Amino acid sequence: MTPQPDRAARLRAVVDRDGNTCVWCGRAFGPLLLPTTEHVVPRLKGGPSWLENEVAACRRCNSERGHRSPVDWLEECRRRGWQPDGARLGRALVALDEAMAVRGGQRRARPYLDGQLRRLQRRSAA
Ligand SMILES: [Zn+2]
Repeated sequence: MTPQPDRAARLRAVVDRDGNTCVWCGRAFGPLLLPTTEHVVPRLKGGPSWLENEVAACRRCNSERGHRSPVDWLEECRRRGWQPDGARLGRALVALDEAMAVRGGQRRARPYLDGQLRRLQRRSAA
């Protein structure tokens, strides 16, 4: 596979790709609200440091999510009355699924990602 750009370059690419807002609360990034790298599948669960596994979140949302799964945290953000970008999360999960299919490996992240995709699909079907 082609080497991934470094972390700062990946974060810029993620903001260019997804827009200049936090995926979880919808607030716009700026000098007082800096973007941080959020791993869709946490690294603890084997999530790779690939663009396809990364979205941008503000520091508050990133740290408050902790080790919650992305779909659990999406639901919690909605309960809190925030404006999480569920469509963006869905696109990220699908892009990661496709990248894993092409590149192979990621045996730890695979079942975790499958579970998240199923939950998100059930939600949108309901
Ligand atoms: Zn946020």
